Amino acid sequence: MFELYDLHCHSTASDGALSPTEVVLRAHRHGVTALALTDHDTTAGLAEAQACAATNGVKLIPGIELSTLWQNQCFHIVGIGIDPEYPPLAEATVNLQNTRLERAEKIAEKLAKKRIPGAMDAVKKVAGEGMITRSHFAHFLVSQHHVDTEQEAFDRYLAKGKPAYVATPWADMTLAVSWITESGGIAVLAHPLRYKLSANSMKRLLTAFKTAGGQGIEVITGRINNDEISRAATLAVRFELAGSTGSDFHCPDQWVELGRLAPLPVHVKPVWELLN
Ligand code: AMP
Ligand code: MN
Ligand code: MN
Ligand code: MN
Repeated sequence: MFELYDLHCHSTASDGALSPTEVVLRAHRHGVTALALTDHDTTAGLAEAQACAATNGVKLIPGIELSTLWQNQCFHIVGIGIDPEYPPLAEATVNLQNTRLERAEKIAEKLAKKRIPGAMDAVKKVAGEGMITRSHFAHFLVSQHHVDTEQEAFDRYLAKGKPAYVATPWADMTLAVSWITESGGIAVLAHPLRYKLSANSMKRLLTAFKTAGGQGIEVITGRINNDEISRAATLAVRFELAGSTGSDFHCPDQWVELGRLAPLPVHVKPVWELLN
C-alpha cells in the first residue's frame, strides 16, 4: 500500500497551534497515512493523537523531538517509534519540562530588564500544561507589538547572542539517543543543515551520533530547497544513515503544511524501513 509519511510535527503539547486531535485530522486531510507527532521534549500529546488516529486509519507513530547538547551546541534529535513509558525517557521529559520552566523564568526576567514585563504570565497562559518554548515568547512579543513578526522576535531578542537569550542545560546528546533507542525507537538528527556546521564539525557530530546509536537523518524537512535536499542526502549516504522526511509543521498557513513534502531521493534508505 502507498504510504505518505510525515515524521516530524508539533501540537499544543509544545509549540504547535493545533491540538493533537486537530493535527491528526489535518494530516489525514492532506493525505498523510503515517504520522509521527514529535513535540519538543514531551510525549504528552501522543495518547490523544493515537485515539484520533485509530478512528480515521492514520498510522500514528509515537515520537518526540528532544533538545540536546553536544559540545555545548544545541541539536534536536527526533525519536520515532519510541515507547513513551520507557522510564528513563519518561523521566527525561519531566526533567526537561523543569528545565524549560526555569529557562522561561530567566527569559522573562531578561525581557523585563528590557522594559517588557508580563512575559511569564502570558506564555504560561498560552502553553497551559504544555512545554514552554521560545516560540511562545516570540508570539507574546508580536502580540504586544514589540516586533512585527516572530522571526523579528528571534532576531532582536531570543536568538543566541540577543538580550533575552538564555543558555540552557539540555539533555546530553549521547544520552538522549540512548533513551530513544533503548525504548525501541529510531533516533534521527533533525534538520541537519540548520546548525550551520563546517564539514569537519558535521563529520564529528555524525560520528558521535552514530556511535551513540543514532540511525537516521532528516533529508526532507519543511522549507528546504533542492540544493539542500541533495546536501542532506549526501550526508545520509556518506554516513550510512537512513533518511527521514518530516514537515516540522507547527501552525496552519505558515510556511509548511503537513504531508506537503518532496519525495525522498531514491538512493537514500528510508527510515521507515527500520520501523517495525
Ligand atoms: P526552543 O524553546 O529553543 O526549543 O525553541 C523552539 C522553537 O523556536 C523551534 O522549534 C522553532 O519553532 C522556533 N525557532 C527557533 N529558532 C528560531 C529562529 N531563529 N527563527 C524563528 N523561529 C525559531
Ligand atoms: Mn518548535
Ligand atoms: Mn527542531
Ligand atoms: Mn520541530
